[in-house]
Amino acid sequence: GFRMGIVGLPNVGKSTLFNALTRTAAAQAANFPFCTIEPNVGEVAVPDARLDRLAAIAKSKQVVPTRMTFVDIAGLVKGASRGEGLGNQFLANIRECDAIAHVLRCFEDDDITHVDGRVDPVADAQTIETELMLADLESVERRLTNIVRKVRGGDKEAVQQERLLTAAQAALEQGRPARSVPVDDEDGKAWRMLQLLTAKPILYVCNVSEDDAATGNALTERVRQMAVAEGAAEVVISARIEEEIAQLPADEAAEFLAEMGLEEPGLDRLIRAGYALLGLQTYFTVGPKEARAWTIPAGTRAPQAAGVIHGDFERGFIRSETIAYDDFVALGGEAGAKEAGKMRVEGKGYEVKDGDVLHFLFNA
Ligand code: GDP
Repeated sequence: GFRMGIVGLPNVGKSTLFNALTRTAAAQAANFPFCTIEPNVGEVAVPDARLDRLAAIAKSKQVVPTRMTFVDIAGLVKGASRGEGLGNQFLANIRECDAIAHVLRCFEDDDITHVDGRVDPVADAQTIETELMLADLESVERRLTNIVRKVRGGDKEAVQQERLLTAAQAALEQGRPARSVPVDDEDGKAWRMLQLLTAKPILYVCNVSEDDAATGNALTERVRQMAVAEGAAEVVISARIEEEIAQLPADEAAEFLAEMGLEEPGLDRLIRAGYALLGLQTYFTVGPKEARAWTIPAGTRAPQAAGVIHGDFERGFIRSETIAYDDFVALGGEAGAKEAGKMRVEGKGYEVKDGDVLHFLFNA
């Protein structure tokens, strides 16, 4: 599955947010047995109203949303990259994530100490980014040294790695993150394999006081501008509100949200923003037994999409029967869509679209 690592300086509200996420996961666990909760890992359902709609039309007995994993990566502080304190283990945890949710303190509260003595989310973002860049630079230099022999021996993979590592090194030495390096499609896979921390997409999570949850504030506006300039994503959330909502029954939660001037839980927005940031999309399998959502990167072709369900589906892929979400809904389900000629048969080259309702045919 896709993993989002939650980072941030101490006292910015990470634990509060993560607790809200895991409480939500715990509440979901009764319905969705796959939702696991570990001390620092929470797997939560991706909210998607389309899935409920499809399930209602097909009268599916079970509804199974797709999911996203959040990892609490606490303890990232100044000096982490030099192995001060517990730094290295935390950096290793970030490496395994697909994207980074960076929690920034955008609330004033004299009772809660800021590690640097002032509330400045943009400076905080730079503090963390600097640590990550230093960690990347060190790992890039180490790897460049380690592959010298292979490169001399003419190993093709090593030559490609050396070229990419050198490009990353140049950017990092100029104080730019690895994600600023332009990478060709052919190099995409090798680049991702380098697992550079500052190559991962960033979602800034502005943690605001309850009063600012619906509107944001001057600090979140500065973060928004930074995010726009960097091509990063940004959401405004009140971790304290989320913590409260996560403990309420659904009807009371809705009432509480309305009182706060919010349309939906911030966690829903956070999860969706993560999804968008990672370039993920959803397709559905729908039947009387089960309606289920599946996650794929945008641009995935039908056989690889089938492979998310089971490796055999990909290996033995023959074709997929495909109904667009809007057609499925407008025509009252599979039978109606078929009758109207809206069920397409697609082959191996088909690029799955967001919302497609798919049925795979394969050789067992
Ligand atoms: P972490 O160190 O980043 O995990 O931060 P915590 O989640 O432990 O939060 C640090 C302190 O800030 C706790 O006392 C929280 O209750 C408090 N806190 C978190 N969010 C907010 C907020 O939006 N407003 C205020 N006033 N306090 C908050």
